[in-house]
Amino acid sequence: MQKTYSGGCACGAIRYEITGEPVAMLDCQCRQCQRDSGTGHQSHLQFVGAQMTSVGAVSNWQSIGDGGTVKRRGFCPACGSPVYLTFPAMPEVLIVTPSSLDDPAIFSPTHVTWSSSGHAWDHLNPALPQFDKMPI
Ligand SMILES: [Zn+2]
Ligand SMILES: [Zn+2]
Repeated sequence: MQKTYSGGCACGAIRYEITGEPVAMLDCQCRQCQRDSGTGHQSHLQFVGAQMTSVGAVSNWQSIGDGGTVKRRGFCPACGSPVYLTFPAMPEVLIVTPSSLDDPAIFSPTHVTWSSSGHAWDHLNPALPQFDKMPI
């Protein structure tokens, strides 16, 4: 049976529920994730083919990743929290920021991407496999 994951933005204007199972959990050190998070990396909880319901207005900014992927980063227009990421070319993929979950403790990253742009001060678990760029 599939679980439901609930969460929202910092001010509570956005609330979401996702039914499905995460397929990947990772820390990304690309420059866009650094700028988006305000620190050395953004953490990603990835779903594929999950059902999401969301209440509250979500603003987006769109960018082309260092690897050429078009990304739409959804954030709350009131509090500015990054909440989730979608990909116009891959509508089945949904990435949620673990800190937006009601239970962030379920996040358990298995690898680090874009370590080539990581900073020495952004110290991640050294036991995690690191990829210079995005694997695959
Ligand atoms: Zn908010
Ligand atoms: Zn990134």
